[in-house]
Amino acid sequence: MTNDSSFNLMDKIISLCKRRGFIFPGSEIYGGLANSWDFGPLGVELKNNIKKLWWKNIVFQREEIVGLDSSILMNSKVWEASGHLQNFYDPLVECKQCHNRFRLDSLPVSPADPEKKQDRLSCPLCGGELTSEKKFNLMFKTFLGATEESANAVFLRPETAQGIFINFKNILTAMRGKLPLGIAQIGKVFRNEITPGNFIFRTREFEQMELEYFVNPQEADSWFNYWQTERLTWYDSLGLKRDHLREREHNLEELAHYAKKCVDIEYQFPFGWSELEGIANRGDFDLKNHSQFSGQDLSYFDEKSGEKYFPYVIEPSVGVERAFLAILLDAYAEEHDENGDLRVVLKLNSKLAPIKVAVFPLVRNNEKIVKKSREVFNLIKSSFTCDYDVTGSIGRRYRRQDEIGTPFCLTIDYQTLEDDSLTIRERDSMNQVRVKIPEIIGWLSQMFNS
Ligand code: ATP
Repeated sequence: MTNDSSFNLMDKIISLCKRRGFIFPGSEIYGGLANSWDFGPLGVELKNNIKKLWWKNIVFQREEIVGLDSSILMNSKVWEASGHLQNFYDPLVECKQCHNRFRLDSLPVSPADPEKKQDRLSCPLCGGELTSEKKFNLMFKTFLGATEESANAVFLRPETAQGIFINFKNILTAMRGKLPLGIAQIGKVFRNEITPGNFIFRTREFEQMELEYFVNPQEADSWFNYWQTERLTWYDSLGLKRDHLREREHNLEELAHYAKKCVDIEYQFPFGWSELEGIANRGDFDLKNHSQFSGQDLSYFDEKSGEKYFPYVIEPSVGVERAFLAILLDAYAEEHDENGDLRVVLKLNSKLAPIKVAVFPLVRNNEKIVKKSREVFNLIKSSFTCDYDVTGSIGRRYRRQDEIGTPFCLTIDYQTLEDDSLTIRERDSMNQVRVKIPEIIGWLSQMFNS
């Protein structure tokens, strides 16, 4: 679907995000900082909802999975042991003419010989000759303390996973863990990407939601299949359209240095099918290497079999921002309302919606209606994230809430003053029902839980 209308969709999403307070360009008043983005009042709610739903599904609903929040800065030996210092690089080429830099593997290959990297076409911007490939390490380096000496060098973590591996023994002991054991973490990571872009799809600072699931090596394949199914089911539960998702297994050339197998869950973004989440079998690479480099034994003693071994690790890992983008793209719709007017509606799953309920007094100049509306707002605001809006016609107020995906709008009108009922209008069907105010919390709770 990489046609004009899908690129158009991306432009519409970017514009909606800025206009309605989901995402702003980073450092905007100083002319910006390329490919950095700030999440505004609605963006932070949507992001938090994604993280909460992931945590609930991965940690709260499973007995054998626990959480962790490890440091971003770690001893540099972590990155030596994990192989990131030697292997976490992208192949960089530069155009000899215009000096733009590209990731070699993102350039189109010669159709005559697609396997050979050397046959990548010339510079996609000016047609100039490209330099030969250089290794470009993606980790951001900084220094601890006041002197920039190499002994004080540390790296901003490029994945949350290593914080989990180095705490494996601590958690196993503290939680009296047995395999299978999962450790989950959500946190910021940093990668000095050569070609960031496509809005929030590829940035240099982003959040990951990662699970490291430690298993008996003999059971690794079946757990891999299990997590593939579980993760697709999670996207279903968020309402992502199944035909916008597909799975793609990495070939040997693509596999990360630590991986035995990797399957990407790809989403059909406007710029083409691209990775949304990666599921990897990391084998025993990390625990073995950390044991060797740290001198600490990170193997596991299996009481059932009497064996000692390094567990294998199955890792589903997804970027919060990529999930955010896929969710917005999937939810965006343009429709005609009952009067034939075009309405933009974000058909977000109600669990994801940044605002759950909006409260409107029908008119702003009737004291009793305004007072009643405030009472309703105060009644529900501790149960649901709410918005209170008095500006413009009811129709306009509906449009504003549709555009940010608010599932329900409550209008307090003249009839409310007589029988204590109000109108609830549902976002997608635009159907309206009247409900008595004392029943409102129960009614909404039932709708949100159904
Ligand atoms: P890609 O091939 O797109 O560079 P990757 O295979 O390097 O991604 P992983 O290391 O598997 O990505 O990271 C797990 C997840 O983190 C990805 O599936 C993606 O959702 C997210 N992610 C990775 N890099 C970025 C980035 N630069 N910006 C935003 N999210 C990212």
